[in-house]
Amino acid sequence: MNQIPERLAHVQERIHRAAMAAGRSPGEIMLLAVSKTKPASDVAAAFGAGQRAFGENYLQDALPKIRTLADKDIEWHFIGRLQSNKCADISRHFTWVHGIDSLKHAEQLSSHRPAELPPLQVCIQVNLSGEVTKGGVDPTEVEALALKVARLPRLRLRGLMTMPDPNARTTSRDAAFAGLRGLLESLRASGLDVDTLSMGMSDDMEAAIREGATIVRIGTDIFGPRD
Ligand SMILES: *Cc1c(COP(=O)(O)O)cnc(C)c1O
Repeated sequence: MNQIPERLAHVQERIHRAAMAAGRSPGEIMLLAVSKTKPASDVAAAFGAGQRAFGENYLQDALPKIRTLADKDIEWHFIGRLQSNKCADISRHFTWVHGIDSLKHAEQLSSHRPAELPPLQVCIQVNLSGEVTKGGVDPTEVEALALKVARLPRLRLRGLMTMPDPNARTTSRDAAFAGLRGLLESLRASGLDVDTLSMGMSDDMEAAIREGATIVRIGTDIFGPRD
């Protein structure tokens, strides 16, 4: 039995409640449904229940779904690790990229963005848990990179993204969310027109919303566990 509409409604209700508890308007928070590894039929079920933005991590897994669902008004977000040989396809088939981690990848995405499409919306991924193995740039490098990315002609820098270590204690996870918000504020103080904090997943979306998330990326709680 397909429970996706019910799960989706429950996630929307959690977003609503967390926003109200934080004194925020639920309309400020976009739900990104993370459909990685799930079939196109699951995306179609969520789309049928009103969901429009979907997140994918793996290009090879995403492209067939994007093709199958091409007649639907879906906004695709790439949330995986970037690789140079994938940037051209990512830039053609997605509306957003959340994981900008280097000027090189940003330049590749910009140069391959088709002229007939609006600029690709991007977030810089920040590593706030201090682990070398995780993606994202060091907080001390964010501003310099942001100023350069913001000048690329075919990108539109929207803000910052982070993914705390899932094994971190809640205090360090909450500190990462608050740290991302502080970094966004300092980018604004430097004159950049940025508005997006992409943070919060199935297990920590309430904490992320409390700290100012404007996009929460939810997979498991909508589509069920991944194999
Ligand atoms: C898989 C993934 C998510 C969703 O995680 P869930 O715990 O399934 O909600 C969010 N963001 C990124 C970058 C992911 O890779």
